[in-house]
Amino acid sequence: MQPIHHIFSQLTTPRKVVITTHQKPDPDAMGSSLGLYHFLVSFGHEVTVISPTNWANFLDWMPGCEKVINFEMNRERSEALVAGADWIFCLDFNTLIRTKSLSPFIEKSGAIKLLIDHHQQPAIESFQYGVSDISKSSTCEMVYDFIVESGHGDQITLDIAECLYAGLIGDTGSFRFPAASGNVHRMVARLKDTGLNHTIIHENIYDNFMENRLRFIGHVLSNRMEVFYEFDTALIFVPKSDLLRYDIKTGDTEGLVNYPLSIQGIKMAAIVIDRDEERKWSFRSKGNVDVNTFARRFFEGGGHFNASGGRSSATLDETIRTFKKVLKENASEFNLDNK
Ligand code: 5GP
Ligand code: MN
Repeated sequence: MQPIHHIFSQLTTPRKVVITTHQKPDPDAMGSSLGLYHFLVSFGHEVTVISPTNWANFLDWMPGCEKVINFEMNRERSEALVAGADWIFCLDFNTLIRTKSLSPFIEKSGAIKLLIDHHQQPAIESFQYGVSDISKSSTCEMVYDFIVESGHGDQITLDIAECLYAGLIGDTGSFRFPAASGNVHRMVARLKDTGLNHTIIHENIYDNFMENRLRFIGHVLSNRMEVFYEFDTALIFVPKSDLLRYDIKTGDTEGLVNYPLSIQGIKMAAIVIDRDEERKWSFRSKGNVDVNTFARRFFEGGGHFNASGGRSSATLDETIRTFKKVLKENASEFNLDNK
């Protein structure tokens, strides 16, 4: 993988470009994709953002979101765009499998593949150019750096600023996590100078749910949370029946995994959701608890040191049993032995 700055000189030559990101895009995935989209369009490139799956409604306000193609709903068009692209930008993921059923088409395409990402252990052999930096708060920060370092920082419009700000607040927990660096805050200052109204963006993302979602959270916290004080860990499990009863949609469970971390002494929080095709895990931690390794080793996943995800094809009961077993057996290696 060659450094991404090797393509800077080619930015002004129009090309057919596809931008894609991980399945079920979150604010960072969608924000970085659309931020880069607006930037590349300004040079006359023919650009399409393709999401491997649907996304949460609370992202629909983003400028350009109405043009994003959902691969699962538009397979033929997506396949043609991917096959005919000169460049495919892969944002906020670093192993093609994160694009689910879109992955074989990206692999097959003769396009040059470019990576911009901040997750651990990138599969760099899949990309010709790229930047992978786990110290970065978000892929949105990296798209900002890409724009500035390419010498076009003056082209950051309000549209770009709105998209990139969304990913920053998503991935830094509204500037709370350690990766919210000086660079992040300087970036915010620059985005604000475009006229960005940050309050509206926080409201669009965090105050944009239906009543049923809040009642669902109440139910889950009361009835579906187990706390293992001896291992500084809490687990939330969500059976399919709960998703149906509360009419839970994509995005409604986002953020739920963070609640147990507000319990004094809890260093790891896990949530498992019984989805149709798999049991989907999310892990969050504080300090020296490495949930990237935990997800990678036990649940076919990965991500960041303090935020990761994974999956299981076992039943909900079985995967919960596995979780409890591996937690107990590996607590001390993961600094979860209450010391
Ligand atoms: P979330 O829990 O919000 O879905 O994901 C937390 C972090 O882990 C995100 O950065 C996400 O991209 C990553 N992640 C989530 N699920 C998986 C997975 O199955 N595999 C890998 N490699 N990363 C994941
Ligand atoms: Mn991210």
